[in-house]
Amino acid sequence: MSLSDNPDDFSLYIHFPWCVRKCPYCDFNSHELSGEIDEHRYIKTLIRDFDHSISEFNQRSIKSIFLGGGTPSLFSGKSLGHLIKYVTESVSCRGDLEVTIEANPGTLEHDQFARYLDAGINRLSLGVQSFDDGCLARIGRIHDADAAREALENARKSGFRNINIDMMFGLPDQSLEMAIADCENAIACDPEHISCYQLTLEPNTLFYVNPPTLADHDQLHDMQTGLQALFEDYGFMQYEVSAYAKRGMQCKHNMHYWTFGDYLGIGAGAHSKILANHGVLRIWNEKHPRNYQNKVANGVSWRNREPVLGNNLVVECMMNALRIKEGISLDLFERRTLLNREKLLAHTQVLHDEGLLLIENDQIQCTEKGYLFIDEIIERMIS
Ligand code: SF4
Repeated sequence: MSLSDNPDDFSLYIHFPWCVRKCPYCDFNSHELSGEIDEHRYIKTLIRDFDHSISEFNQRSIKSIFLGGGTPSLFSGKSLGHLIKYVTESVSCRGDLEVTIEANPGTLEHDQFARYLDAGINRLSLGVQSFDDGCLARIGRIHDADAAREALENARKSGFRNINIDMMFGLPDQSLEMAIADCENAIACDPEHISCYQLTLEPNTLFYVNPPTLADHDQLHDMQTGLQALFEDYGFMQYEVSAYAKRGMQCKHNMHYWTFGDYLGIGAGAHSKILANHGVLRIWNEKHPRNYQNKVANGVSWRNREPVLGNNLVVECMMNALRIKEGISLDLFERRTLLNREKLLAHTQVLHDEGLLLIENDQIQCTEKGYLFIDEIIERMIS
């Protein structure tokens, strides 16, 4: 619980649903731009959404803000600054508030980083994905490796001291050697944090309909373990399945998600999770940007909600918590779910007996062996 030291704090997620072009593997709520974004209208909508939704987080402090997408870096520093100022002046915020923006190297002007810093953003997550121009072209990205390096250099020169590089592996026609070389290039840029995701084929994407040639299961396993060893050699400690950080630079926002903390999501399609008096509520906003903006403007309900109950609650909490190397304390499990630990232990006893989970000193986590089979563990908990 070291990174989420006050269970009552919450995180704020703000969704920006537009991209220059839709990537063929992407199943996020992102829509290809067909003209100029009406920044003023969307920011106004977000503020209305925030004003309406914040009442459910009464008297609680914000620990992190995450501007995600889509491509939030399509928005100007001025617009984002206005929004962040409004939010941080409306509710109490922790002194060490982390404010992250996801940025796409293909959308950045030279002086944009300084404006983002002025807006109160103190962490940059750059969607590089690969430093190999062939791989980038095959996954339909709009930038090349030079643009990524230039963006990272500019961000550093502008004063960003907390930079994440998003990378992917298992890309079309990518060998183990190429994946390792790719991440060596990321390390050479000297970020504080690297997220490294395996490319997966998700329904409702172009790649799902028309799959490219991808590495097989054994090759992917070799890539995963090879990259883990590489990152560790360079001082990036793995603290979650896909997340590696230098000492003390773990992402607070994501750690809060993974320890099943509460969060408010505003924006088209954004999700919230709240522990209310009678249990956990899952809330999700109207997904399409046009409908979302119209509904908020007209005061027509844009938030859908349902309770998360019983076994679903155990599984949902543990799907997140087991992704973290250190797992979760039984005490925090009880606080986050309002369930007692016996309910969790009943679910996990067999996995513990098989050496996949470790339950010790009030903490539950995957064993080394279990961490290699995390998807299977989750599937068995669901069934
Ligand atoms: S830039 Fe990111 S959010 Fe946008 S389409 Fe590509 S993967 Fe999806």
